[in-house]
Amino acid sequence: MRATRTRPRLAVWKFASCDGCQLSLLDCEDELLAITEQVEIAYFLEASRNTSPGPYDVSLVEGSITTHEDERRIQHVREQSKWVVTLGACATAGGIQALRNGRDLQEFASLVYAHPEYLDSLATSTPIAEHIRVDFELRGCPIDKQQLLEVLSALLIGRKPNIAAHSVCVECKLAGNVCVLVSSGEPCLGPITHAGCGALCPSYDRACYGCFGPAEAANPSALSRRLLGEAPPTDQRVDVPRDALVKTARLRRLLQTFNTLAPEFRKESLRHG
Ligand code: SF4
Ligand code: SF4
Repeated sequence: MRATRTRPRLAVWKFASCDGCQLSLLDCEDELLAITEQVEIAYFLEASRNTSPGPYDVSLVEGSITTHEDERRIQHVREQSKWVVTLGACATAGGIQALRNGRDLQEFASLVYAHPEYLDSLATSTPIAEHIRVDFELRGCPIDKQQLLEVLSALLIGRKPNIAAHSVCVECKLAGNVCVLVSSGEPCLGPITHAGCGALCPSYDRACYGCFGPAEAANPSALSRRLLGEAPPTDQRVDVPRDALVKTARLRRLLQTFNTLAPEFRKESLRHG
């Protein structure tokens, strides 16, 4: 008698987010059939009302933790999952919603909601890794679907995902772009931003605003000095004096967007007030 082949079980979870990262999975139109042949999609409310209980082999998690119910649910996700992968800026670095941290939440809520008393919000919006152990973090706002497919296929065959760790600058060079920072004086975050978009913005003469979060070994303080027109530290090679491209307040805002809780961006933004 032939043994029944059991496929690995995939679950996709949403927390506070815009759904853009889940849409990137649905956007894998050509590859989705191949995925469903290899994987049982056991829980994915954005794609199907049919759900089946855990345990799951891989859980993909979108969004940040903003309510008490979120806190309980993410523990359940961890307990039910062999691998947990966070998707995008919300899940890995708090997302736009984390910009409220440290500010008056009640004031914001009263401006947005007719009945803010029904809200059950935590004082902060936090990334998934602040609550549970995470096995892999995929960056981007939204994520890149090729990187997602690479992570999924790597986990399913038991190898380490091969995701480029370099910066957007490398992608710019590969695309043959003229550097917008050097040639146009645009305050581009490409030197400190993780690869994944193929240098989308600089390819259209726009500065990168860091939606893929920090690159591995990023050096935000060196970029800040360059953007503010400051001299390099005396123990480093003398640089050519340059004009300031931004004022401090703009630099702070540049670093405090989608990935505001990414430690590399957060530390540097706090250094500027
Ligand atoms: S990371 Fe960006 S695209 Fe993904 S859910 Fe959050 S806001 Fe949406
Ligand atoms: S902001 Fe930067 S990381 Fe985001 S798409 Fe544009 S170039 Fe890519």
